[in-house]
Amino acid sequence: MRLKDLIFLFIPLLVTCQEAKDTEIWGPIPEEVYTISDSAPPTDAIILFDGSDLSKWEGSWSDKESEWDINDDGFLVNDGTDGRLIQTKENFGSVQLHVEWKTSEYTSFTNQKRSNSGVFLQGRYEIQILDSYKSPTYVNGQAGSVYKQYIPLVNASRKPGEWQSYDIIFDAPKFDSDGNKIKSGYFTVFHNGILIHNHVEILGTTENIGPPKNIAHGNGPIALQSHCCSQVSFRNIWVRELN
Ligand code: MG
Repeated sequence: MRLKDLIFLFIPLLVTCQEAKDTEIWGPIPEEVYTISDSAPPTDAIILFDGSDLSKWEGSWSDKESEWDINDDGFLVNDGTDGRLIQTKENFGSVQLHVEWKTSEYTSFTNQKRSNSGVFLQGRYEIQILDSYKSPTYVNGQAGSVYKQYIPLVNASRKPGEWQSYDIIFDAPKFDSDGNKIKSGYFTVFHNGILIHNHVEILGTTENIGPPKNIAHGNGPIALQSHCCSQVSFRNIWVRELN
């Protein structure tokens, strides 16, 4: 009998010697995490804003005094001034982030002036917030875009004044000690529960002018953008660290 024939004879025997338990993994056991409802934060989430205070946040500008306010309804309302971002005091790497937001019912502004905000991961990678309900703009800058890098797969925008949500899975990029990017970052994003980005590779910083930049950095804050001209409201912001 040739060697090849012997191998084919023994392969079925080897397979039948295996047992189901050979491919069972019993540890480490995943941590127990719960939610009381689909809209509630998981038990291991860091609550960044629940309507009560801004203790987890600071202004991104030099004096750090935030002009963002909590209104009488317990919603965080943006400053309305260009460039006045509010950011977490804590720095984050890879995260799962939940943000609920509402565009203004005041719809006289158009294009990028109509309830423009944004969620910045590590202070530099923006998922656009905008009123994109029947309000045209460049599509790589509409609501849900990875700003000027990826157009959302669909436009899941709700009407002005209706609450919306982002669930963002951010896989942070990595840089070596020489400042070279050794691993790209990735975004997976759900807008109102609908998948709009499926593990897209972040090309670098989400610049308004010019190409993305890839300057080495470590963990960074989660920031919310203030942008002229109509305001955006926020509620229920929580994050789970994935590092
Ligand atoms: Mg924006």
